[in-house]
Amino acid sequence: MAEPKLKDLGERVGIVLHRPRLPENIGACARAMWNMGLSRLLLVGPVRWDEPAMYRMATREAAHVIRDVEVYDSLEAALSSYHLAVGTTARTGGLRGPLWPPWIAAQRIISLGRQDRVAMVFGPEDRGLSNEELKLCQITVRIPTASFSSLNLAQAVLIMCYELFKAAMSEELGIKERHGPLATIEEIEAMYEHLEDVLVKICAIPESNRKTGMMKVRRFLSRITLRPHEVRMIRGLCRQIEWYGSAKRRQEEEGGPPRADA
Ligand code: SAH
Repeated sequence: MAEPKLKDLGERVGIVLHRPRLPENIGACARAMWNMGLSRLLLVGPVRWDEPAMYRMATREAAHVIRDVEVYDSLEAALSSYHLAVGTTARTGGLRGPLWPPWIAAQRIISLGRQDRVAMVFGPEDRGLSNEELKLCQITVRIPTASFSSLNLAQAVLIMCYELFKAAMSEELGIKERHGPLATIEEIEAMYEHLEDVLVKICAIPESNRKTGMMKVRRFLSRITLRPHEVRMIRGLCRQIEWYGSAKRRQEEEGGPPRADA
């Protein structure tokens, strides 16, 4: 897998735990972060500094996340060098403005430049982030749940980091649909006409039932949003089939195999 986007994320995304109460949760957050390639952990104190509990939950693999932790005494101070703060909340009421689903927030984060540092902010286990604290965040995310909405802190961190990781992976693999315009209806109809012609010629669909045969092909291909170069590729295949058919006929008339340069 290509790594730059993912590596880039590790450098520019910080996870901020605002006044976490349980050292075990801090360790579990560190582990969840490192599972998804993130390692910048910021704590806003006061924090009960119980290293054995933190390291136990972080496991050896993610111990460096705890070792390199940054501790601040206010949320403002923790966020000061970041460009975008993404708050998280289990609650829907109050003056919170629109609540973003995690995957949309992840796409926004991925789309930013590599110089833009993003903080994802999580509240204390007992009461979450206050409206005042959420005001410091430009985006507020709520992870959708059934009626019991309050997730364990480290599990909320894992879901957010996973969404980011998935979005970065899709980008790496070029899965995201961002490769220019779709083919026009005119291009697609010309392709179907061409395809119908060829499929009838090679008896893949019967002449007497060509409309029904083509309906199946259309239904299948319309599940894909075709791009102009893909339409050209299918038409290229049609031409190749036509060429092969006529070369084969010639061969039968003249003898000898069909030639690629015929
Ligand atoms: N009672 C608190 C829950 C705190 S859980 C509340 O109602 O907000 C600790 C933290 O985990 C929360 O502050 C938030 O950062 C995160 N969290 C828990 N459940 C979440 C959810 N459904 N969506 C987004 N974040 C959540």
